Amino acid sequence: LAKAAGRNAVRHYRSDLIKLQNTNFSLLQQLRDAIENQEFELYFQPKYQLKSGQIIGAEVLLRWPQADGSIIPPDQFIPLAERSGLIIELGNWVIERTFAQIAEWKQVIGQQIPVAINISAIQFRDDNLVSQLTEQAEKYHLDADKIELELTESLLLSDTFSVQKQLDTLNEKGFSFSIDDFGTGYSNLRHLQNFHASVLKIDRAFICNLSTSERDQSLVAAIVNMSRALGLETIAEGIEDEATRELLISLGCDQGQGYLWSPALPVHNFIQLYPA
Ligand code: C2E
Ligand code: MG
Ligand code: MG
Ligand code: MG
Repeated sequence: LAKAAGRNAVRHYRSDLIKLQNTNFSLLQQLRDAIENQEFELYFQPKYQLKSGQIIGAEVLLRWPQADGSIIPPDQFIPLAERSGLIIELGNWVIERTFAQIAEWKQVIGQQIPVAINISAIQFRDDNLVSQLTEQAEKYHLDADKIELELTESLLLSDTFSVQKQLDTLNEKGFSFSIDDFGTGYSNLRHLQNFHASVLKIDRAFICNLSTSERDQSLVAAIVNMSRALGLETIAEGIEDEATRELLISLGCDQGQGYLWSPALPVHNFIQLYPA
C-alpha cells in the first residue's frame, strides 16, 4: 500500500514537473536550490558475480527526495541539469559525497568497496573533472582502481580526440571505466579498444525480455563474445528473475545487477549487505 502511495506521489509530481517544464525557470530554480541546499541523496545498487552470487560492489544512483516523501528519479532532472550546465556542480557533489561514503565504509569494514559512478557526457568534457576526481580520491585516501566511471557509448563516439585525451589521463591516474547502456548507441567497434574500459554494461533493453526472446538471447551472446574478444568483462543491468540470471550465466556474462537481488538502496540498507 505504502509503495502504491509512493508511486502515486511520484506520478503527481511528474505532472507538476511537466507543467514546470513549460515555464522552465521554476524547475531550474528548484534544481539550483536543491543543489545549493544539498537536497539530493545517494543510493547504492549492489552488483553481483553471476555464478557465485557474491556481492562485488555497487553503482551509485542519485535520488531527489521531496518534502512529501516522494522521490524524483534521475531521469526527470539529469537531462535538465545537463542542458543547464548544473550537471557539473551536481556531478562534483556526487563525486565528493560518494568518495566520503566509501571512506566511511572503509573505516567500518576495513576494505574499499568498489563503486561505479555515472559520469554524464557534459561532465566528462569539463576540464576540472580530472582534478576533482584525483583531489577527492587523495583527500579520502581511496584507490582509484576501485572507482569505476560509467561512460556512455555516445560520449565515447563523439569528439573523439579530446575525449580520448581525457580517458588517457584518467586511465594513467588509475581509474577504471565501464561502457554503460551498451547496445543502445552506434558502437564503433574499432574505437571501443582505445577506451581502456574494463567492463561493458549490457543495457536493460536486452535483458528485460531475455528469457522469452530468442532474438535477445542471440544479441546478448554476440555482445558477450565481442566483449571477450576485446578483453572486457560484461555486466548485465536490470536482471529481475532467476531464469534470466541462469540464461546470462550460460551465455557467459560475468556480473549482474537488478531487482532480482535489490534496487538501489539508501546507505544504511546497502552496507548491511556486507557481513560485519
Ligand atoms: P543507468 O546508469 O543505466 O542506471 C541503471 C538504472 O536502471 C537505474 O535507474 C536503476 O535503478 C535501474 N535498474 C536497476 N536494476 C533494475 C531492474 O532490475 N529493473 C528495472 N526496471 N530497473 C532497474 P535510475 O536510478 O532511475 O537511474 C536512471 C539513469 O539516471 C541512470 O541510468 C543514469 O544514466 C542516470 N543517473 C543516475 N544517477 C546519476 C548520477 O549521479 N550522475 C549522472 N550523470 N547520471 C545519473
Ligand atoms: Mg550506470
Ligand atoms: Mg546503465
Ligand atoms: Mg540504462
